[in-house]
Amino acid sequence: MYRERGDHIITQVTEHKAVLDTCKRLEKHGFRVTFLPVNADGLIDLGDLARAIDEKTILVSIMAANSEIGVLQPIAEIGKLCHERGVLFHTDAVQAVGKIPVDVIADNIDALSLSGHKIYGPKGVGALYVRRRNPRVQVAAQMDGGGHERGMRSGTLNVPGIVGLGKACEIAQAEMASEAARLGALRDRLKNKLETELDFIHINGSMEHRLPGNLNASFLYVEGESLLMGINDVAVSSGSACTSASLEPSYVLKALGLGDEVAHSSIRFGLGRFNTEAEVDYVAAKVVDIVKKLRELSPLYEMAKEGIDLSKVQWAAH
Ligand SMILES: *Cc1c(COP(=O)(O)O)cnc(C)c1O
Repeated sequence: MYRERGDHIITQVTEHKAVLDTCKRLEKHGFRVTFLPVNADGLIDLGDLARAIDEKTILVSIMAANSEIGVLQPIAEIGKLCHERGVLFHTDAVQAVGKIPVDVIADNIDALSLSGHKIYGPKGVGALYVRRRNPRVQVAAQMDGGGHERGMRSGTLNVPGIVGLGKACEIAQAEMASEAARLGALRDRLKNKLETELDFIHINGSMEHRLPGNLNASFLYVEGESLLMGINDVAVSSGSACTSASLEPSYVLKALGLGDEVAHSSIRFGLGRFNTEAEVDYVAAKVVDIVKKLRELSPLYEMAKEGIDLSKVQWAAH
């Protein structure tokens, strides 16, 4: 809709594929896209963002919360900067809505997307918030056929899905404060148990700016897929296989500066509404047990424990 005004879009490297793939598609249609880097904690630099905006920038799209590492971007500061510079701000808040406070007015958000099934609602329904004034945001229709939703999205609406999404939001809103405190405590309990029992653990992403229910950790000298198989009654995901059946290391973890080996040894633990303290204790004990067993088989772990810097080892090639 804003193509006449400019051709430049800014996003960042750890966005979900929902945004990255869309931006790549737009590049094919002639747009310029800047993919901002993140620091080792997973946060973008506001100075980088300010410098990236030029007179042709029409949109900044930065996620509120990351799905793999739970890192929260400084949405309010980004919104303020965008409005000062006259650029529209979209945020992928799929992981944030219902988990942490999000305020489209206070945070100067012009467009916000959310998805039902990430907040215990039904699959196949989501919402796009579109600001109506200061500024009035216009959206190009992606499909035609009757002009529903003020021309933005034609087609008869999925009423059961919408009602389900509304109810899910209502429950999430009512429980958000107490759930955040409960999940944060459970997550910290898990983290403390793992860190007490195991050495060579690396926590991925800022602990300070993070969703309460997320923990992403690398267990050095252990192969993530082997660890997954060892805890196959626990639903977690590894630092590989996340977006496909491939064993490519996670692009999100790589963007934090992690090497392939460390990314492959990573596990994301996601805690939610139905998890209990007993489950956390079960998972912690199980992970500790499996990691210790796998490391018994790992010559690299032996060497690391002896203080050998593995990055400096000259491996003989025959
Ligand atoms: C799950 C997710 C999406 C995609 O939402 P779907 O409704 O599952 O397509 C986009 N962004 C983030 C951050 C997500 O976690």
